[in-house]
Amino acid sequence: MRSLTRIGFVIGLLALSPVPHAQQPPSAVTLPGLEQALDKITVVDAAPPAQVVQPPAPVVTPPASEQVADKATAPQTAPSPAPRVQQATLSIEQVADRITAAESALTARLRAFHPLVEAYLQNLAPDDKLGVPIHDEYFLGQFEWKDGPKLTPLSINKGSFQQQSLIKKPFGMQYLPDGFAAMTVPDWRLLDRQRYDFTFVRREFLGEARCFVFDLKPKGEEADGFTGRIWVEDRDYNIVRFNGISRNVDHTLSSFFRKKISFHVDSWRVNALTGLWLPAYVYCEETDASDNKQALPRLPQMKTQVRLWGYDLKGTRAQQEFTSIQIDEPSVQDGADPARQLSPVASQRRWEQEAEDNVIDRLTRAGILAPAGPVDGVLETVLNNLLVTNNVALEAPIKCRVLLTSPLESFTVGHTIVMSRGLIDVLPDEASLAMILGHELSHAILGHQLIDTKFAFADRLMIPDQDLLRVLRFKHSAAEESAANTKVLALLASSPYKDKLSDAGLFLRAVLASAKQLPNLIQTHLGDYVLDGGQSLSPLMQQAPALAPENLEQIPALPLGARLVVDPWSNRLELLRGPAVPLTSAREKVPMAVTPLMPYIRYAVVPPRVTSR
Ligand SMILES: [Zn+2]
Repeated sequence: MRSLTRIGFVIGLLALSPVPHAQQPPSAVTLPGLEQALDKITVVDAAPPAQVVQPPAPVVTPPASEQVADKATAPQTAPSPAPRVQQATLSIEQVADRITAAESALTARLRAFHPLVEAYLQNLAPDDKLGVPIHDEYFLGQFEWKDGPKLTPLSINKGSFQQQSLIKKPFGMQYLPDGFAAMTVPDWRLLDRQRYDFTFVRREFLGEARCFVFDLKPKGEEADGFTGRIWVEDRDYNIVRFNGISRNVDHTLSSFFRKKISFHVDSWRVNALTGLWLPAYVYCEETDASDNKQALPRLPQMKTQVRLWGYDLKGTRAQQEFTSIQIDEPSVQDGADPARQLSPVASQRRWEQEAEDNVIDRLTRAGILAPAGPVDGVLETVLNNLLVTNNVALEAPIKCRVLLTSPLESFTVGHTIVMSRGLIDVLPDEASLAMILGHELSHAILGHQLIDTKFAFADRLMIPDQDLLRVLRFKHSAAEESAANTKVLALLASSPYKDKLSDAGLFLRAVLASAKQLPNLIQTHLGDYVLDGGQSLSPLMQQAPALAPENLEQIPALPLGARLVVDPWSNRLELLRGPAVPLTSAREKVPMAVTPLMPYIRYAVVPPRVTSR
């Protein structure tokens, strides 16, 4: 945490330094930041020269599965749990009752929250040894409690969960999103000893949280309910993780797929505030929907990641906050004399800036865009490398922000380049990141219209969140796309990335190879400039070797979730840190694929007051 802040600060400093003069030879500085091939972000900065930043000690965050430890080998970082109750004096039954109480309290509280829920599902070819996805589905919605967990859809560009395909799938469609909402809790009715058998298994650490592990089974022949394992932290007896099968979820999901499906769920919560653990990640997979017994182990045929975030924005206080006035620091301070009327050109620029600010603010308020943070700084550093080495000076600085969703997309909102979390996740290295940013930058350099100025009118965005993604469009004409692609090749050719472009080309090849199978992940813009007849970016692809799925050395794209961690309470983004794990088989490459998610569990701490240096 501390080291991340420092990186963010250093990068922030570099990114905020005045537009460097191209006469001075640019010097490259490498920073630690993103793991794997992106772990050394190049920083080109003309002034001050050759500033080498000492990499901070890496924060090792092994996956939670490796955190299994008894007290003797407990991680040093684990705070002394200081249990409020003497555990030695509690019976299994008493612990079970405390779990029931904590879970009932959470289930009740959840009804007041309205987090965003994103579900992304991939189907895999049944006999493919490499686990290559062949089909996908996407859903983005908002959690609501209406006599049960429900999802209100937020419109999206593509996908079969969209309105028109609702007509094609009239029966199951309406249930599927609610099935995802239901996965966040093992049992929305009571999880108590009257209905369930609790069997104590062991104690185990999940990250920093010392947990009791119980196996749960519904008593008797209950047709619905949860069967599986729960991990319960021992301070307040909140469920941190549950893993098993929930029959309630099965009913809704089976009706969607029109066959009997047992959806196995691995669901994680994170500690948002003291005592408040909120559902954050759910992974489900189904290996064998047909239930025929086969001797051979089978690969999953369907994998789904469900992510939840935006609890704070969309919590119970949100409505009051909308009616109260928030005074933020002024974000635009152009130093102009306010008494003087602006020239027509300056007015036009201000007008476009207002449109940009309106869109960015609205997207952030909807929880779709992450608040400004250190990851933006990493992107801006790469962007600055392109600007400096190409001797480009723009009339307004370009900023970067991150969309919190998974589909791979990038676009410009005025002078802000927006990249999705999913796209940053899967990019194999810094050169491919530079390619994406360079494409968006090219639109700005070429003077393309970067914002629809209709959004300068305040009323345009006074719409419900559900309509937001339908109203906002950030498209360029085919001619502008083609021009931007020509320009980005020139930018990259004189950038620090010029010798590493085969990886960027390889990424494009991977996207191209999957675009037909994964139309929900590979979104229009990226699709446009990859699939424009292979024309404009083909020089990059020609530099790249052919895709070699069996080759462990070749990483064309990373799996989803490979780089960024979202704080589901505040929507803040962090870079995932941890040692790069060497792959042992081609099956582990899974480019752009859904994998299980194992968050590092930490207790929420009251953030220390930040004192200035
Ligand atoms: Zn474009």
